[in-house]
Amino acid sequence: MILQSQQQLDEILSGELLKEFKTVHAMIKIYCRKHHGVLHGLCGECDELSQYAKTKLDRCVFGQNKPTCNRCPVHCYRPEPKETMGAVMRFSGPRMLLKHPLLAIRHLRHEKKQVPEVPKTNVSNRHLRKQLKSGKS
Ligand SMILES: [Zn+2]
Repeated sequence: MILQSQQQLDEILSGELLKEFKTVHAMIKIYCRKHHGVLHGLCGECDELSQYAKTKLDRCVFGQNKPTCNRCPVHCYRPEPKETMGAVMRFSGPRMLLKHPLLAIRHLRHEKKQVPEVPKTNVSNRHLRKQLKSGKS
């Protein structure tokens, strides 16, 4: 099951977006383990949150130039998952350095970058994927 979801994710996301998702997913895992006692994978609720995060990354208007979510000027989460995700970030953020140092360091570096302006044309991963599919460039 873990393998399958890994494959699905590689199919949809790539580059910075995939790394960002791996970071978020790792954070949800840390949170789920401590709060819901799930040792392998995620509980239903957390899995839903993870899927939601993936969808949002796929549709992020910045595409590969996405700033870190905490500094993003676009508020794309619905209030409820936003609140849950906030709790996950607060809990797992400080723990990431120990558990996943490479992902954590990348994220911290990324955070220092200037936030880009919102692109005028849609460059989201999803949009580009659809263009590719329909044969337009
Ligand atoms: Zn959970």
